[in-house]
Amino acid sequence: MLGGAAVAAWGAVYPGAQVFGRTLRITGDGATLALTFDDGPNPAVTPGLLELLERHGARATFFLMGSHVRAFPALAREIAARGHAIGNHTETHPSLIFLPARKLHDELSRCDEAIQSAAAYRPRWMRPPFGFRGPALSGVVHRLGYSGVAMWSKLARDWRPQAAEPVIRRLRRAGGGDIVLLHDGDHRMTEGDRQHTVAALAYWLPRWKDAGLEFVTVDEIDPSRAGLRDASSEKVN
Ligand SMILES: [Zn+2]
Repeated sequence: MLGGAAVAAWGAVYPGAQVFGRTLRITGDGATLALTFDDGPNPAVTPGLLELLERHGARATFFLMGSHVRAFPALAREIAARGHAIGNHTETHPSLIFLPARKLHDELSRCDEAIQSAAAYRPRWMRPPFGFRGPALSGVVHRLGYSGVAMWSKLARDWRPQAAEPVIRRLRRAGGGDIVLLHDGDHRMTEGDRQHTVAALAYWLPRWKDAGLEFVTVDEIDPSRAGLRDASSEKVN
């Protein structure tokens, strides 16, 4: 039997865990795929990614960091102008597990304010840095008027610079109904290398389209249909 600490650790990092409140992890529609990009905006990667998505008529969701939005407000505005959704990925990307409610509120509201003032966009969903959730998160998210916490069902493990091939290989498992975790930014720096992610998407976008999948933003997902319930998921590590 798992002890309390083990359960808490498991609940914090396992996207399917419901210990700290229910989360969004699937689209609820097998004909759709939701691509999500964390840690931007990133002037070294996001503009090329926006061009690539546009070329394939794909819309996605960008979970932006407030500090990066403040550094590159025009890029945040450009993301919204091209019809993508924007989510809240906190101001400074801390681990939220042991953050008190007051600090959590500060991290989320500062990021929200940065997004609204740069992009005139009101985020509806937040995603916790590293996927780490603590017991206070769910309450703060709802007090701020958010729809909830958006996790994922598939991840590309693209958070370190690498060749495109392993990312392409991991994305083979993504398909209808998935919310896919990708990165156009790097929380440790403003202009991280994410060319492997862009190259992997250049490979997969036409193939997903040929397979008949429709790209949706997280804001377009009907939470009641997606269930905010447990579903097959992968561990972060
Ligand atoms: Zn992140």
